[in-house]
Amino acid sequence: MPLISMRPMLKQARAGRYGIAAFNMIDYNSARAIVEGAAELEAPIIVQASVKTVKHWGYKPVASWVRLLAESVDVPVGLHLDHCTDLEVIKRCIDAGWTSVMFDGSALPFADNLAKSLQVYALTEQAGIGLEAEMGAIGGVEDDKIVKEGMAALANYDECVAFCKELPHLAVFAPAIGTAHGFYKGEPKIAYDLLESVAKKTGMPIALHGGTGLSQEQFDRCIAGGCAKVNISTMHKHCFIEGFISVQRENPKQSEPLPFIAHQYEAMKRDVKDMVRAFGSAGKATHAHAAAE
Ligand SMILES: [Zn+2]
Repeated sequence: MPLISMRPMLKQARAGRYGIAAFNMIDYNSARAIVEGAAELEAPIIVQASVKTVKHWGYKPVASWVRLLAESVDVPVGLHLDHCTDLEVIKRCIDAGWTSVMFDGSALPFADNLAKSLQVYALTEQAGIGLEAEMGAIGGVEDDKIVKEGMAALANYDECVAFCKELPHLAVFAPAIGTAHGFYKGEPKIAYDLLESVAKKTGMPIALHGGTGLSQEQFDRCIAGGCAKVNISTMHKHCFIEGFISVQRENPKQSEPLPFIAHQYEAMKRDVKDMVRAFGSAGKATHAHAAAE
């Protein structure tokens, strides 16, 4: 089916209390593993790209790969731009066919984050696509953004409520709730109270960043608490590299590239399917598509 905006998908997911996986694609093989893995489980899926990835391949190639993959399956697929602070990049993604974008103004003071998010919102509304916005400081490394351990800060409840009041039609809201990008070194301390109170007060589907390494129980509690979009990047990168190089480890004489790519695809797809099952979105393709705009 054609690419669709994640906004109606996430609304349905929040109402149905399941999470839609949002994987950070790396190249065509990775995008294919994400889309086809979801299709095998009849699950809705979000393919997202970091700014770095988009700049590496170019806007049109990324958009056309994901569009063609979406058209070859029968499940709803959204193409999303992850953490972006640059309005020019956002505009170019909109022009190239992205169906949602994230404006990350979390490093800005509240008033500036709100003002810029409203500016991006006007652009996304005009284009008929979804917007994700962030508040607080999610720890870890994502793209070129580094938030050191001591600098990670939970979102402020009152600010979240005030922010969402001004932006009631966000596709998804990303308050920092204690999760972090990258592999966790210790046990993440998730602020479930904050998550639940923000989700309840605003009614907004919530994005869970830093999904790699969380336990099934943590996913369950976050999804029950209002998370509808679950981001996975680090584990997908790991499967991408490990799936490829392990071929040579096991068969040092292998000199044909296609077996590497095939093995890498299977490794990524296995992880995609594990996560889709963990978030409860297997079999939800029709449900998620029911409210498509
Ligand atoms: Zn993130």
